[in-house]
Amino acid sequence: MADEREVLVEVKNLEVTYGSGRKAYKAVKNANFTIYKGETFGLVGESGSGKTTLLRSLNRLNETFPGCRTTGRVELDLGRGLEPVYGGSGVRPRPLNEIRRLVGMVFQTPDVLPVSVARNIALPLKVVAGAPATEIEERVRRALTDVGLWEEVADRLDLPAERLSGGQQQRLCLARALALEPAVLLLDEPTASLDVRAAADIEELLLRLAGRYPLIVVSHSPEQAVRLAARIVVLSRGRVRRVL
Ligand code: ADP
Ligand code: MG
Repeated sequence: MADEREVLVEVKNLEVTYGSGRKAYKAVKNANFTIYKGETFGLVGESGSGKTTLLRSLNRLNETFPGCRTTGRVELDLGRGLEPVYGGSGVRPRPLNEIRRLVGMVFQTPDVLPVSVARNIALPLKVVAGAPATEIEERVRRALTDVGLWEEVADRLDLPAERLSGGQQQRLCLARALALEPAVLLLDEPTASLDVRAAADIEELLLRLAGRYPLIVVSHSPEQAVRLAARIVVLSRGRVRRVL
């Protein structure tokens, strides 16, 4: 029977190579898989297996690394049906800045901006999404509420974000990504840099967000991936070994 679930991501013959000539290193080898709407998707594999590289090919962040080459095809549904973000023939992909806004990403180590808590969200809202000034305050509040941070920081919105705890910083990064209303959210080992308690908080939060946002989560821990994701791809030395 044909699979009738709606496709969110289609990856075909994807290869990603760093460097060239004798120094060339193929970090992703002939990857093929499909991610459907309505399921959190997990990506696991040992360190160096190509998880981050594979994730970065979904928002074309690999292109920011000189000498990194991508071949194959990546298609995403960013709100108007499946469209090529990489390797499509005939169709001109959206501008990169639009792809990066619609495919949000949260990194292993919280990368808060060196500005206040509120401005961490307000700045990208203004600069990246072009949100009108009248909406910003409300959208900052909503994003902080979404990640359970509002009550903790409501009276400290002017505090430099670096003063927050690691777990709070990571939730702020999540809030910043969510504020831009992404079509897909990529999470690259979002709990790896946190203590057990903060990691559990983030996991719980991701389970809550899963109903509202399509999540693609890279995890160093198969146990965590099972807790978070309905379907999991196992990577080993750049190859997709199994789809569970
Ligand atoms: P993982 O996230 O599973 O640990 P990565 O995708 O980060 O794996 O890395 C896969 C392989 O690609 C590793 O061998 C790594 O050293 C190499 N690699 C990753 N990023 C770069 C880069 N910017 N330049 C060169 N090699 C890289
Ligand atoms: Mg990684």
